[in-house]
Amino acid sequence: MPEDENPRRTLPQIQKLLELPEAEALCAAHGRGAVVEALRGALADVRAQLGAGAGQVPAPPVLLARAALALGVRGQPGLRRAINATGIVLHTNLGRAPLAREAIEAVADVAAGYCNLEFDLESGKRGSRTQALEPLLRALTAAEGALAVNNGAAAILLALSALSGGGEVIVSRGELVEIGGGFRVPDVIRQGGARLVEVGATNKTRLEDYRAAITPETKVLLKVHQSNFRTIGFTAEAGIEELAGLARERGLLLVADLGSGLLQQAPGSAEPTLGQALAAGADLVTCSGDKLLGGPQAGLLLGRAEVVDRLRKHPLLRALRLDKMSLAALEATLRLHRGKPERVPVYAMLRQTGAMLRRRAEDLLALLDCGALARSEAFAGGGALPEERIESWAVALTPPMGAAAAAAALRAGMPAVVGRISEGRLLLDMLAVSDDELPLLAGALRKVLTP
Ligand SMILES: *Cc1c(COP(=O)(O)O)cnc(C)c1O
Repeated sequence: MPEDENPRRTLPQIQKLLELPEAEALCAAHGRGAVVEALRGALADVRAQLGAGAGQVPAPPVLLARAALALGVRGQPGLRRAINATGIVLHTNLGRAPLAREAIEAVADVAAGYCNLEFDLESGKRGSRTQALEPLLRALTAAEGALAVNNGAAAILLALSALSGGGEVIVSRGELVEIGGGFRVPDVIRQGGARLVEVGATNKTRLEDYRAAITPETKVLLKVHQSNFRTIGFTAEAGIEELAGLARERGLLLVADLGSGLLQQAPGSAEPTLGQALAAGADLVTCSGDKLLGGPQAGLLLGRAEVVDRLRKHPLLRALRLDKMSLAALEATLRLHRGKPERVPVYAMLRQTGAMLRRRAEDLLALLDCGALARSEAFAGGGALPEERIESWAVALTPPMGAAAAAAALRAGMPAVVGRISEGRLLLDMLAVSDDELPLLAGALRKVLTP
């Protein structure tokens, strides 16, 4: 190819692009260095396309527009607000529980300045990081001792590390579950330095199976909530009460990982609350703070005073501890559970009636000039109450560009909107959308759907 026909030669120079009138505003907004860098990136993309034998050299204003887009995207926060129209309240990928207003204010209060994180205001001496939480947790669950760490997985890791002493931990084969994101119960037991002893079968484990597996090396009986799956049909499991009896008889500890952290009985649910598991005789129960409890990411450990004190002394505790913002949010959420649980968003969302959800879908429709009212099936999520479908309502859209393209465009917005595709339609479920979010949601939909 003769030199002058090589299209790469006709790529404009950065200096020339910077002389365009649009470049001035861009430099004023982002700084000249960032604009030069973005232009270099845009030119490199074009060069790569041409090298692959595709495309043409774009006009200089187009190159500048591409650089502007890249700068704009870079300016947006990577972690950003999303509207959850999936119908899954505790969506782990969308950050699980939204916080109550009281919890948000508590976070802002301690984040803006200093606080008595580890300082006893009465004595003026060093205090405990969880000093404010412990009495609340004791009052809410009747536990003798309480502690909070970074998340549910950290709570189990700490419990097994501190209590198994490198010995054996017995678990039912029906409870060796993967909770999500590769977090598997057998791996955590190993990480905790313990030896896993599996008993029973996938569908049936009886008290006698545990009893037969006990050796002088056994330290802990572990009961794990199945979380995001269920064994149904021909099944049997040993309950907390029976296991607690066996643990007491043989001088072992019973640890129960309840997962979702129910404080009050959920509507239509047979799941034990934290208090019920303790009353049934568990020495220690663990759960997450951001599932049914509706607080920040956290892991709670509740149980007999002497057992919790062993956890308090373990060196891992420091690596797993909570920061001041999470502690503030958790304390505020627990306070609400004592007097006004309906102010905890997750609690309120799961108690909405069908009529409330239908009315919200109708309100959204009134703000759009397309879409239809549709029934939808929603879930609590987060491994909580997996078998309980929630009758919900949605706005169903059949955009000309196709449901997948519209869903992608909505995800790219600010805030991002995440819905669900079902039978070629884009469904926006109202269970986890608040009334306050409707104008924002309608705005995002109009932007994407209006030609
Ligand atoms: C969710 C869950 C966990 C993990 O809790 P994280 O807070 O996500 O770390 C552990 N066990 C059970 C049974 C769960 O449901």
